[in-house]
Amino acid sequence: MEPELVVNEIFGPTVQGEGRSMGRRCAFLRLGGCNLSCHWCDTPYTWDWQGVSASGVKYDPKVELHRRTVASVAEELLAFGVDMVVISGGEPLGQQARLVPLIDILVRNGVEIEIETNGTHAPAPELVDAGVRFNVSPKLAHSGDPEARRIIPASLTSLATTPETMFKFVCRDTDDLDEVAGLVDRFAITSVWIMPEGQSGDEIGKHMENLADEVVDRGWNLTTRLHTLVWGKKRAV
Ligand code: SF4
Repeated sequence: MEPELVVNEIFGPTVQGEGRSMGRRCAFLRLGGCNLSCHWCDTPYTWDWQGVSASGVKYDPKVELHRRTVASVAEELLAFGVDMVVISGGEPLGQQARLVPLIDILVRNGVEIEIETNGTHAPAPELVDAGVRFNVSPKLAHSGDPEARRIIPASLTSLATTPETMFKFVCRDTDDLDEVAGLVDRFAITSVWIMPEGQSGDEIGKHMENLADEVVDRGWNLTTRLHTLVWGKKRAV
């Protein structure tokens, strides 16, 4: 039987909104489902069927999730004619065994791949060997997820030693940076990016002001959330 993915949305061309490739033209594959339930999640429509996130909305999985064959997903992504695809979620590595054949097709067509992950799954060797770049965003205490669910040491250790991996921490204030420093030391993380939490330009700006000077002092990198600044809460952009 042909492998299938549980897809929330596919869209493009757009730009990568966060991290080291911010501003780069790409297409997005957003997969459904997540093993965490962060209070401030900006994509609750991929997993929140109970209305437990800050949005308070009970999304309908029958509306939000679509079973799609790998071949049809690949065809739709390649039709955008871009040279980079970002695979996000939800938590895409929850479906990583079924992502392997998709990534194989995309790479054979000269497409670079970035996967956004919460860091709770160790990456499959097939994805690493295919040259996938992982953008890992371990969740801090303010996400509201219990530590035992959001910090999986074996997975973070594996990702931290995977070539081309960057870590992106969602922060609000300088206390959060102390928490980040603890994780950076514990898992020997070398590529550190700090991103302000926020679902509006005002929130992002306020948190950026709190964080910027100390991020630079600590020798880390800073990213904003370009898609939110440009398009607000609009979906599929
Ligand atoms: Fe949302 Fe990401 Fe947290 Fe999952 S890990 S609940 S997708 S912010």
